Amino acid sequence: MGRPQIEIRYRLKNGLLNTPCYECTSHKLDSSGYPQVRRNGTRQHVHRYLFQQVRGLVNDDVDVHHKCESKMCIRVSHLEAKVKGQHSSEHNTGKLAGEKHPNVKLTENQVCKILKDTEHTQQQLADKHRVGQPLISKIKRGERWSYISA
Ligand SMILES: [Zn+2]
Ligand SMILES: [Zn+2]
Repeated sequence: MGRPQIEIRYRLKNGLLNTPCYECTSHKLDSSGYPQVRRNGTRQHVHRYLFQQVRGLVNDDVDVHHKCESKMCIRVSHLEAKVKGQHSSEHNTGKLAGEKHPNVKLTENQVCKILKDTEHTQQQLADKHRVGQPLISKIKRGERWSYISA
């Protein structure tokens, strides 16, 4: 029977999405904060490894994007294959929900405006700032950017 499976342990953690993240607890993080696995002498991110186990192999020019923005998450339904160029440009234009990547995020100014805004619905605010509604919800609940006081 095929290759031996690696043993991966994880814990449930509520994140940006409606379903909890599977936060990997069994593997060490690399310098960018992604859990890493060694297979046949090469290193790979655990989420990428698992994604390929479930969805099939992806080329080197394809990134496995975290829809939940949690680097430690290994839940395949939270992952999505994206061509590298498209992936980075979507992050750069803030098109993706819950931006947390270093090169794109809502500015503090935008977060302040969102916090103070009481006349728009969360969905309207999400559309306006081109982020996902779950992120707006989190900002409103003070779960993210809690260092900003409205
Ligand atoms: Zn996740
Ligand atoms: Zn991404």
